[in-house]
Amino acid sequence: MKVLFAVSECVPFIKSGGLADVAGSLPKEIKRLGTDVRVIMPKYGTISDTYKQGMKKISEFTVQVGWRNQYCAIEEYTLDHVTFYFVDNEQYFSRGRMYGYDDDGERFAYFSQAVLESLPRLSFYPDVIHCHDWHTGMIPFLLTRKYSWRKEYASIKTVFTIHNLQFQGIMPREALHDLFSLEDKYFNIEELEFYGNINFMKGALVAADKITTVSPTYMNEIQTDYFGERLNGVLNKRKADLSGIVNGIDGEIYNPENNECLVQNFRVSDAEHLKLKNKRFIQEKFALPKTDAPLMTMITRLTKQKGLELVRGVFHELMHEDIQLIVLGTGDPEFEDFFRSMEHQYGGKFKAYIGFDESLAHQLYAGADLFLMPSKFEPCGLGQLIALAYGAIPIVRETGGLNDTVLSYNEVTDEGNGFSFTNFNAHDMLATIRRALFFYKQKDVWSTLIKRAMLMNNSWSQSAYKYHQLYSELQLRSDAHVLK
Ligand code: ADP
Repeated sequence: MKVLFAVSECVPFIKSGGLADVAGSLPKEIKRLGTDVRVIMPKYGTISDTYKQGMKKISEFTVQVGWRNQYCAIEEYTLDHVTFYFVDNEQYFSRGRMYGYDDDGERFAYFSQAVLESLPRLSFYPDVIHCHDWHTGMIPFLLTRKYSWRKEYASIKTVFTIHNLQFQGIMPREALHDLFSLEDKYFNIEELEFYGNINFMKGALVAADKITTVSPTYMNEIQTDYFGERLNGVLNKRKADLSGIVNGIDGEIYNPENNECLVQNFRVSDAEHLKLKNKRFIQEKFALPKTDAPLMTMITRLTKQKGLELVRGVFHELMHEDIQLIVLGTGDPEFEDFFRSMEHQYGGKFKAYIGFDESLAHQLYAGADLFLMPSKFEPCGLGQLIALAYGAIPIVRETGGLNDTVLSYNEVTDEGNGFSFTNFNAHDMLATIRRALFFYKQKDVWSTLIKRAMLMNNSWSQSAYKYHQLYSELQLRSDAHVLK
């Protein structure tokens, strides 16, 4: 079986969030199950030269983006036995950031069409193209409406994974013709039309053979008005083809036993004792007093999704607790400014590192006693999974994947691997943090929690198998089609 992952970011080449982690680790796992899986993504200017130097150009052609004929080169790179294809066009991708430009619609319209046009040049016709998030949402739509008449494309099936329904790629109606040379007939409510515009993600939701999202709870949530981002109606219609498969984490990267960023590696058996060295290192690095007050961290995009309004709402009360807090994040200026000013006020117990720093993230997970993730919504969330692996006990809101991976500690039954609260309410969050601080002082409870957290199996193996089954189901469907 042959599968092509089409994705906008991928570890270790480039990352803005969990999507890149998934794209970097899931293909390796699927490959282990005997599938020929390859990945195609943009060649961004900001990818490190270490990787760029190892890329080999294997094809050059032009891609039509509406009336424009755009240059396209495909460069190849192999890592962990997985082949990566990089779509090279400097005008679109050689920029300072990955996203956030006025012409993002055009950039990913180009990318989507480059993916489809690349197949004959690569002599690789996959059984399944697995697309991720809005950037690649038009691929299933274009495949079924524009390309399926080509013999080699006719049996290709598509899977579309929703990593975050909030970002949809909404573009003016004119984009239909201007970016895709598609006729106006596709501007209808059953296809691309979305409140007077077109919507890339909707393209995938109506055209992909299977739709997945990254946790069972989020799958249910997105079919409701509250979480559905105005696409819940479409998702409801596709219910039969929709499934929720929880993400895993890459055990080769997120492993406290051998991660090179840590000052002190540790495993379950010695975590209690050795995690402390990581905590002291962090306290020193951030000029915090080396006390035994619990160290809580947040490592996150600074956006409303991540529940930062709750943190802001009770910040002063939180600072009255015997706690140290470090936030590592970047994002909305309102939150960046807020945390900077709080550091000014509470510098003895609160620090903010505004930026993106992968190795610091590892050190913080390792040094932390607690990890706070009070998201408003959370498709899956990787932060809490990494925290668990590093013995930092998560405090989360019960939504999406947080609900599926963190079970609140129950002192009666002695079950649970973290702490959680139900309502999106700042004082509920504060009460839950206080509850965690109470149990932190009970050393036997805390050491059980650390062990339980670190022993959880958050690897990809089970989920990779579920994706593999999904692909196999589609392959059988297309074989049946050919036999007819
Ligand atoms: P999302 O994909 O919504 O941003 P996830 O929890 O799924 O959230 O994944 C976030 C990933 O990005 C985690 O691996 C987390 O450690 C990492 N991360 C987030 N912010 C930063 C940052 N400022 N510096 C380093 N790593 C970060």
